[in-house]
Amino acid sequence: MLTKRFETIRQPVRARNALISAVASSLLLQAGSVGAATVEASYDEMPEIAPIGVRIAHYLPVPQQARGPAIDPAKGYRLEELGKGLYMITDNAYQSMFMVYESGVVVVDAPPAYAAHIVEGIREVTDKPITHLVYSHSHADHIAGATALGPVPIIIAHEETKRLLSRAKDPNRPLPTVTFSDRYSLKVGTQRLELSYHGDAHEPGNIFVYAPDQQTLMVIDMVFPGWMPWRRFALAHDIPGYFAQMKEIRDVPFKTLVGGHVARTGTHADVDRQIAFMHDLKVAATKALGTTKPGAGLDADVAGVNPWAVFDDYIDRVVIKCVNDLTPTWSNQLAAYDIYIWDQCYAMEQSLRID
Ligand SMILES: [Zn+2]
Ligand SMILES: [Zn+2]
Repeated sequence: MLTKRFETIRQPVRARNALISAVASSLLLQAGSVGAATVEASYDEMPEIAPIGVRIAHYLPVPQQARGPAIDPAKGYRLEELGKGLYMITDNAYQSMFMVYESGVVVVDAPPAYAAHIVEGIREVTDKPITHLVYSHSHADHIAGATALGPVPIIIAHEETKRLLSRAKDPNRPLPTVTFSDRYSLKVGTQRLELSYHGDAHEPGNIFVYAPDQQTLMVIDMVFPGWMPWRRFALAHDIPGYFAQMKEIRDVPFKTLVGGHVARTGTHADVDRQIAFMHDLKVAATKALGTTKPGAGLDADVAGVNPWAVFDDYIDRVVIKCVNDLTPTWSNQLAAYDIYIWDQCYAMEQSLRID
């Protein structure tokens, strides 16, 4: 076996590499395909985009449409007014909101990345006290800056979020004082926020926060305006649920979408583009699964004893087809395509096989 032969090699690197190449090419000649797991022996039709675990030498440029207004480095955050006392606050990587009403302020999420600036941001526009905090979901990177706001009398979240936070026992994520299961209408002075639950997608308990007067929808970790979603559909807990919920987001009559990440807010065009990408990804992965034969790339004596190797080889070849299929259409349409396309194809093929 090739691996056994490599174990006996104890030579200077150059000679060793030459030997590996020679062995790999002789294997190619013998078997007509790439089989054993060596770094040097690559798959057929290997994409130019570096796979997971390999350093990307030159990242694809970030398209203009994916960029947002700059952050003042002296401040470390920026405010964006979304209409009638509603503001987004962001460091251009995370996003949260606050809403000013007659006698106070409602904060929605408190990302620890800039939690120290949230009160400063509020003080730019009002001296009123923070009376309510809404959690979009339980993830620490979006709410574990809560204590930087000082004591907040009312914390509202979905009941699943409370369950997850009770389990986490994190002093930086105080438990909600008010929970709901389907809908919750928050009316404060002349301001309104409609909270609703649409089931599991990113995480159980992740809610829609809709400000009807400002036609602003905040849904976190679902839509990434101008960008490829974070790896593996932004770590979606339920991938079929993620696909279904994208359509529910599309159906909300918002003008502005606050997605929780990247440097700008989103529009319906951003939602449509991400849905189109996800559709193409599903089609590509389905086709690759249907046209790839498990075990075809492996030596029979390896396949016979190592089912993990059979799947490693099979899934790699499926994903290579998926990446190659999508690159011509999508590599210039979504920022960071090169960074996460492998992850998305791995997540998609897995979901298609088991969900
Ligand atoms: Zn999250
Ligand atoms: Zn996030």
